[in-house]
Amino acid sequence: MLKSIVALVRCDTYDSQQVCEAVETGVDLLGGISRFVKPGEKIVIKPNVLFGVNPQRCVSTHPSVFRAAGILLKKAGATLCCGDSPGFGRCEGNMKRGGLKAVADELGIELADFDKGKAVSHKEALLNKRFVLANGVLESDGLVSLPKLKTHGLTRLTGAVKNQFGCVPGILKSQFHVKMADPYEFATMLVDLTTLVKPRLYIMDGIMAMEGNGPRSGKPRKLGVLLFSSDPVALDAVACKIIDLDPAFVPTSEPGERAGLGTCRYDNIEIVGEAIESFIARDFDVVRKPPVVIRHRSMRAFLKNQICPRPTIDEAICTSCGICVEVCPVKPKAVDWHDGDESRPPAFKYDRCIRCYCCQELCPEGAVTIRETLLGKLLFR
Ligand code: SF4
Ligand code: SF4
Repeated sequence: MLKSIVALVRCDTYDSQQVCEAVETGVDLLGGISRFVKPGEKIVIKPNVLFGVNPQRCVSTHPSVFRAAGILLKKAGATLCCGDSPGFGRCEGNMKRGGLKAVADELGIELADFDKGKAVSHKEALLNKRFVLANGVLESDGLVSLPKLKTHGLTRLTGAVKNQFGCVPGILKSQFHVKMADPYEFATMLVDLTTLVKPRLYIMDGIMAMEGNGPRSGKPRKLGVLLFSSDPVALDAVACKIIDLDPAFVPTSEPGERAGLGTCRYDNIEIVGEAIESFIARDFDVVRKPPVVIRHRSMRAFLKNQICPRPTIDEAICTSCGICVEVCPVKPKAVDWHDGDESRPPAFKYDRCIRCYCCQELCPEGAVTIRETLLGKLLFR
């Protein structure tokens, strides 16, 4: 059986020139850019644009990595566009604040439509057989995915497989959280989406990763590595190895293998380029436990409140901006204002909360953290 190849290239800086050289080296290790695109093809570049802020906060793919991928794809003769459907707000504003729009303008990469889309069926899907995909994705010949290595409350790691979630436009993303509140079902949907969109190449920005309260409010952590592969499951598994996380705790790993998207077994992965040992960060702050799942339907509501980690608000940090209330996907809201008073921090109603952690993911102040319950701690040590 052919092994999946993951290339690792050291890069300790976001200096544009050095990142360009590192990206070219990484893609060459996989056989060169001509393996992935042909002259004249329309390629959409999909960085992670969760929330547009200063790139030093490490929330989005760094502009230097985006720039290097753009230059390489242009050299190969591709016509480029780019985009993402961020967690909050529209693509253009977020790309502007994240420093990505300036690079797109510099390289003449047009912004694709990630705000609207069309329904597409996916007969081979494991679970979700119909998606609405962004017009920008549908109108391209192929996609190059630029994930950022970050922690994530629901999926542990936001990496190569999860990066395609932004191919679903706007508010439609939150409906998946309601429809698939079980983290493994949600992860299977992400795998289905990736087998539908089929990115040709993944370049993961792990130069400065994010640990702790990711994917929006964690701490930047230098890892000094760029990762390259055409197998997103293997790429995520290698990223796991770097941050000393069992890939089995990342819920996209198993369905990713089942769907034939790739492999998370180290025996089936060949790492080329730099030796992985020089990047391993055993003290990387990530939850080293599988997501909690409650299979007993009749007991689900009760057990969820007793066992599943719950979001909490640090009122000293909260600015009462209301983003958590806005993004909470359940109706009625599980996090809402006290009696409509928008001057005080919102409060949770845990019996309504499906533990999607969208509030934690998108709080701009890092005021929402995920806390284990006492019983959860005892049961899942
Ligand atoms: S998103 Fe964060 S800062 Fe804004 S209201 Fe919610 S907890 Fe407070
Ligand atoms: S309160 Fe937070 S974790 Fe609970 S359903 Fe709403 S967004 Fe999801």
